[in-house]
Amino acid sequence: MGEQGKNNLVVSRQFGPRFRLGCVTTDIPILADKPADLGVGEFCQSCQACYNACPSGAIPQSRGTVRGIEKYTIDAVKCRPFVNRPNGCAVCIKVCVFNELAHRGKWLKVRSK
Ligand code: SF4
Ligand code: SF4
Repeated sequence: MGEQGKNNLVVSRQFGPRFRLGCVTTDIPILADKPADLGVGEFCQSCQACYNACPSGAIPQSRGTVRGIEKYTIDAVKCRPFVNRPNGCAVCIKVCVFNELAHRGKWLKVRSK
């Protein structure tokens, strides 16, 4: 579906970071495909847009290790008071450059496998 960005969100080719995940329970046999490689993680190494814009300082500049896996993760304790405000926050969604790329149908790196 997408690849995790520095803002800790799944970034998809079609919608950038602007979508919500849901689930459907089924017994239909479905083959698992490979993880998406859209170039998001690579791009995020040099982009600082969400890191600079986050009002709580919850977004780190680089990946950390979570339960043995190297990944981007945010500080939920810092983020939560902003998300829980009446109007929420979502600044890290708004400023993400993949919004624009997804909406224009242009992607930095498209790999077909
Ligand atoms: S929701 Fe707001 S406070 Fe939380 S990580 Fe995103 S920009 Fe930062
Ligand atoms: S704003 Fe930049 S660093 Fe943050 S998730 Fe989007 S592309 Fe990655």
